[in-house]
Amino acid sequence: MPVIAVIGAQWGDEGKGKVVDLLAQKAGVVVRFSGGDNAGHSVVNPYGEFKLHLVPSGIFSPQAVCIIGNGVVINPGVLIGEIEQLNKRGVDTSRLFVSDRAHLIMPYHILLDGLEEKARGSKALGTTRKGVGPAFTDKAARLGIRAGDLLDKGALLERLRPILDYKNTILTKVYGVSPLSLDEVYGQYCQYGERLAPYIRETTIMLEEALNRGELVLLEGAQGTLLDPDFGTYPYTTSSSPLAAGACLGAGLSPTKIDRILGVFKAYCTRVGGGPMPTELKDETGNLIRERAHEYGTTTGRPRRCGWFDAVAARFSTRVNGFTGAAITRLDILDIMPRLKICVGYEMDGQVIDYFPASVAVLARCKPVYEELAGWETSTADIRQFSKLPAKARQYVKRLEELIGCPVNLVCVGPERGQTIQKTPIL
Ligand code: GDP
Repeated sequence: MPVIAVIGAQWGDEGKGKVVDLLAQKAGVVVRFSGGDNAGHSVVNPYGEFKLHLVPSGIFSPQAVCIIGNGVVINPGVLIGEIEQLNKRGVDTSRLFVSDRAHLIMPYHILLDGLEEKARGSKALGTTRKGVGPAFTDKAARLGIRAGDLLDKGALLERLRPILDYKNTILTKVYGVSPLSLDEVYGQYCQYGERLAPYIRETTIMLEEALNRGELVLLEGAQGTLLDPDFGTYPYTTSSSPLAAGACLGAGLSPTKIDRILGVFKAYCTRVGGGPMPTELKDETGNLIRERAHEYGTTTGRPRRCGWFDAVAARFSTRVNGFTGAAITRLDILDIMPRLKICVGYEMDGQVIDYFPASVAVLARCKPVYEELAGWETSTADIRQFSKLPAKARQYVKRLEELIGCPVNLVCVGPERGQTIQKTPIL
C-alpha cells in the first residue's frame, strides 16, 4: 500500500480534514506534518462534527495509528484539551502518538506573538496569536524545547532556565511587560509532561514499520501552498512548509517513499489574514459565498475573504508540489450561481502574465483575467457519481482539471464523509 500526501493547494481551509477522514478508513498510519494549533480541520462523520487543531483527522478510524509529527509545534495544554474532548465524545485516542522531536509552544511564544503583531500596526500579518510563528522561529534559532524534553525533568529545567532568562529580557526591555516566572512555567510543563508521557515516542520507527507491513500511510497537511514561507505570499505566510516536500521533513520520511500527492482545492478561493488575493470579491457575490459556505475560520472565527477560483495560483501550486491528483471540495457551494468565473491570467501593469509572482507588491497590482462559464443552478449535494452531475458542473470541473494540470480524483459536494464523488482513482 502506498504513501499519500494530502496537501492544501490554496490558502488553507480547503477541506483537507474531510479528505483525510475519508481516506483514513483504509489507512494504517496518519501523520500530521506541519503547522500548530493555528490550523483547524473540521470533520463531519458518523461520530458527529469535530474541530481538530492538532490531532490528525485519522483519529476516527479505529485501525489507524495517528502521529503528530516532528514538523508540528505543539501547545501541550491545547493538545491535552483536544484529547479530553475527543475521549468525552467516545473517540479512542490510545493510538495517538507525538514525535519526541516536535517542538513545544511555550507561554512566551504566545505573549510574543501578540506583542509582535501589535507592534506591526497596520502591517500586521494576521497571525492567530497562538505562538506558532515564534515557536518555529525558536526552532530555527536553536532555542526550542521539544516534546522529548518533557520526559526528563532535570534536563528540562537546565534547558528552560537560560532560554526563559533571554525571553524575559525581551519581554521586559523591548516590550515593557512583566517577566514570566521560571517556577510557574517549569511546574506547568512538568505537569504537561506527566500527562503526555504515554503519547511521546520516536515515531520514525513506527512509520518505517508500517511501511514494511505494506500499510497505507497518509501525510496530512495543514494550511496551504500559498501560505508556504518560500512559495507563498511572503511575508503574509505561515512559518512551516505546507508543501509535499514539507511532508517528508515534518513526518520523517524519504521523498522516495511518497507515491501520490493529492492537492486539495476549493471550487473557489478563500484566505484569512493579510496579504494579496487577486480574485477576492469585495461585493455581494463574495458575501453570498461567505454566508452560504459559512466561511469563518475554524480556529479564530474570523470571516474568510472569498473569491473566484484562481487557476494561475492553482497551476503554480501543482508545479511546486508535483500533484499527482486533485480533490475539488465545496462544489455544492456554487450550486446557486447563474454564472461562474475562473481566473486564467493576471493583468499586471498593462501586460497579461500567467505566473504567480514572488513579490506581494506585484501580486497586489495584478488584476484577474476571467473566463466565464454558465452555472448549473441545481443541487449537487446528493450526487455520488461524476456522470450524474449536471453537464455544466462537469464542464466546470473539467475546465479546472485542465487548468490545474493534474487529474481530478475526488469531487466533494458536502461536508459529510459520504458526500464525495470519485471521478478517477487516486491509485
Ligand atoms: P481544512 O483545514 O483544510 O481541513 O479545512 P477546514 O476544516 O478549515 O474548512 C473546510 C470546511 O469545509 C469544513 O467545515 C468542512 O466540513 C467543509 N467541507 C469540506 N468539503 C466540503 C464540501 O464539499 N462541501 C461543503 N459544503 N463543505 C465542505
